Amino acid sequence: MKMICGGKVTIFCSVGRTHIEILLRIFGEGLFGGKGQENAGQAGRIPFAAIGKNKYYDRKFYRSDRNFYRSDRIFCRCVGKTGGGICRAVRAFWRIVQTAVLFFPYLCNGQTLLQKMVRKFEFLVIGSGVAGMSYALQVAEAGKGKVALVCKTTLDEANTAKAQGGVASVTNLEVDNFEKHIRDTMIAGDYISDPAAVEQVVKGAPAGIKRLVEWGVHFDKNAEGQYDLHREGGHSEFRILHHADDTGFEIQRGLIEAVRHHPNITVLENHFAVEIITQHHLGVEVTRRTPDIECFGAYILDPDTKKIDTFLSKVTILATGGCGAVYATTTNPNIATGDGIAMAYRAKATVKDMEFIQFHPTALFHPGETHPAYLITEAMRGYGGILRLPNGEEFMQKYDKRLSLAPRDIVARAIDKEMKIHGLDHVCLDVTHKDPDETKHHFPNIYAKCLSIGIDITRQYIPVVPCAHYLCGGIKVDLDACSSIRRLYAVGECSCTGLHGGNRLASNSLIEAVVYADAAARHSLAHIDAYDFNTDVPAWNDEGMLSNEEKVLIAQDAKEVGQIMSNYVGIVRSDLRLRRAWTRLDLLYEETEELFKRVKATRDICELRNMINVGYLITRQAIERKESRGLHYTIDYPKHAYNYK
Ligand SMILES: Cc1cc2nc3c(=O)[nH]c(=O)nc-3n(C[C@H](O)[C@H](O)[C@H](O)COP(=O)(O)OP(=O)(O)OC[C@H]3O[C@@H](n4cnc5c(N)ncnc54)[C@H](O)[C@@H]3O)c2cc1C
Repeated sequence: MKMICGGKVTIFCSVGRTHIEILLRIFGEGLFGGKGQENAGQAGRIPFAAIGKNKYYDRKFYRSDRNFYRSDRIFCRCVGKTGGGICRAVRAFWRIVQTAVLFFPYLCNGQTLLQKMVRKFEFLVIGSGVAGMSYALQVAEAGKGKVALVCKTTLDEANTAKAQGGVASVTNLEVDNFEKHIRDTMIAGDYISDPAAVEQVVKGAPAGIKRLVEWGVHFDKNAEGQYDLHREGGHSEFRILHHADDTGFEIQRGLIEAVRHHPNITVLENHFAVEIITQHHLGVEVTRRTPDIECFGAYILDPDTKKIDTFLSKVTILATGGCGAVYATTTNPNIATGDGIAMAYRAKATVKDMEFIQFHPTALFHPGETHPAYLITEAMRGYGGILRLPNGEEFMQKYDKRLSLAPRDIVARAIDKEMKIHGLDHVCLDVTHKDPDETKHHFPNIYAKCLSIGIDITRQYIPVVPCAHYLCGGIKVDLDACSSIRRLYAVGECSCTGLHGGNRLASNSLIEAVVYADAAARHSLAHIDAYDFNTDVPAWNDEGMLSNEEKVLIAQDAKEVGQIMSNYVGIVRSDLRLRRAWTRLDLLYEETEELFKRVKATRDICELRNMINVGYLITRQAIERKESRGLHYTIDYPKHAYNYK
């Protein structure tokens, strides 16, 4: 082995490719892309065979990042000077290491290191909220192949776990029926919901509840053994199934247990999906007009190796949740950066209704706790909570005859207006007139949370403020949850089924996720046999990329996105504000894309990129809607453009 010591960089000129592979693997900064190396000439990393050994190594060493040089230097110190007996000994040593490293994993689990970088699953599910886990369980039960369930942090961190109110489903047929639930949904959606989607969800809801219960989720029952039903804003009947005031947590708990125990499901936590794979990655030009765009899987960042692996699938399911985190204050956890929507959009899928962002009217006003802000469930208004100014004055009679039970958008706008009129930073929700024991019984978590910041809700008003909460739009799907890209499904909050139209009726989203996960499962199971893995997909190409040392840029830009969106694309919009948002987002987009091309992909830069993409989509689609409808309110077009009733 010959080594040339030149300054800080040491180059091994005549070692073989596998030696380098082993060195880099051991020292943690590998540069090879598995499958891509074998696919000379394709997009992806520069193939070994295509450019020749020496040139290849030259490129790698000079272009690689500081971590690599550091690793290299460690090795130099071990082996000392070049040439002679020491190097022969070192070469022999490395051959042994090579053999051991390559064959040990093979003996353990039947895979070599190189093979490990391409993983194959019939069903690739990205997202582990109610949507992703329901889908995964359903297809896993059918036993038609391996299921990967990928999430970017841990299984329990999802919007689903935050849901407090409950799940809407017609269960008490003595007073309620499907027609009433359908009508309530259409009214909340400002008459632009898709009637077929509404019917599918409302009629499929009871079966969806049954599936959740079979998977181990519990809902509260009354003394007679019937479901204890709540009523929320916009619902004409009591039809909200719940588990105390932590329904989402209970759903997430039940599904996690079921998923972890299912032998056909491989759970991959802390795995970040970077891009979905289409013909584009095979070197084919793909535009929004390209017919038959097809999804072959996704590129996914492995938390241990810090490398982006190729996940090949027969079908891919985006269940990546919403995008509340693109706003400065939100009830959503930080994971809600709209990744799935941005990935699908970049892959040229149709994305729709992004302007319809629901601002929850009553997040707990507690400065310093904005991301996520603690939610005071709508069920509290259903229970009899009254909105008041801090001086005790009621104000909802000025805005809607349903008073505090008016739909969310009306309440949020009313609060926004009152805060502006009176120069307030919050208004109040009052349940002091209710029986204290009943309040504590129905809302134990809210009671405890408020008490923890010095507010006894049985005696004092709860300070509340509106904030970004839910996205009605997303990746456009049909009744089978198919996106406009073949073999790509979208379920849950990242999808746009048409159910919500201009606004979501409270507690309709969890059940939408369960019903559409079922539709996607049925459709994919019916078609899976016709699909195959596309083994021509090249590995992710980050050859020559640098490690990003500029974390401060990313943090600052993410903050800026939040401010732009909250200030200019918030509850009340105008052409001027939207144009200002557009210009500023455009600048951030240019800067971030430029940075993304130079540095290795990490979770934070990918999320920033996605947030900018999603912010852009919300702004653009808000500009395109020249009317006020549902959640989109603009002072320049304060009325409906058409009457759809
Ligand atoms: C505070 C709060 C209260 C709510 N209350 C109710 C209610 O009472 N009733 C109701 O019906 N709805 C409610 N909602 C809305 C409802 O919770 C959500 O719409 C629903 O849970 C969304 O589920 P999901 O499975 O689509 O996404 P989520 O539950 O958000 O799951 C998203 C998953 O995607 C993963 N993910 C995202 N990006 C990536 C990536 N790049 N790579 C890998 N994984 C990724 C995440 O890790 C996560 O596992 C509430 C929401 C909030 C925030």
